[in-house]
Amino acid sequence: MHQAENLAAIPGVDHGFCSIDDPLRPDEVFICKQVHSASVIEWQAGQVANTIEADGVLTHHAHPIAVITADCLPILFASKTGERVAAVHGGWKGLQRGIIANVMQRFAAEGIAADQLQVAIGPSIKPCCYEVSEGFIADFQSDQGHLWQHAQAPWSFVQPAPLQSPQMAPPHARQAGSAWFDLSGYGLLLLQAAGVKREQIEVSEVCTYCTSPTFASYRRRTHQPEEAKTLIYSWIARTD
Ligand SMILES: [Zn+2]
Repeated sequence: MHQAENLAAIPGVDHGFCSIDDPLRPDEVFICKQVHSASVIEWQAGQVANTIEADGVLTHHAHPIAVITADCLPILFASKTGERVAAVHGGWKGLQRGIIANVMQRFAAEGIAADQLQVAIGPSIKPCCYEVSEGFIADFQSDQGHLWQHAQAPWSFVQPAPLQSPQMAPPHARQAGSAWFDLSGYGLLLLQAAGVKREQIEVSEVCTYCTSPTFASYRRRTHQPEEAKTLIYSWIARTD
């Protein structure tokens, strides 16, 4: 199980980024029926896991909440006082549709401003392994380009090297004119646009595709269909 230092330092909050069979994963975890939406909900007693369509969940109760991913961003939030936590599934669709702004509004509605948060982005596919088409980039630039007017766009046309030495070979380019998309970099831009400072955000360097076969990667499995299907379980809970 992986942990983020900034969340581990918050009293009264426990969390982890783990595999589905990890013994440290809590037994009773609430999870939404994830649909790549921008919807976030409040945990309520009696809600049945995997039945409510949404991609983010918040709580000030002690019941553990989680998201499942395999390449997308698992994003865990906690107020610095530990009184409120959230788990968000950040695929490019949900991110583009505004799920980060939506979860920040829920915190703000409870009097928790952006500067009162700690945020951790767990293992996800990195630009070393995330090839996207020319058309994807064109659409993204026209719709989201305001986010990187004064910064570097979250992709490169040259395949970047992995941040961590890879146990699995990164994929070769499969399309002409493609680019290598930085999903966690895009998540960072959105968090910062919503008022969270870079030093409040911890980003895992793990690439789900290439760092190790123990991390679930939807993209790797499409290239290697013989692999068993698995998921990353990212959970957070108040402990008091
Ligand atoms: Zn990679």
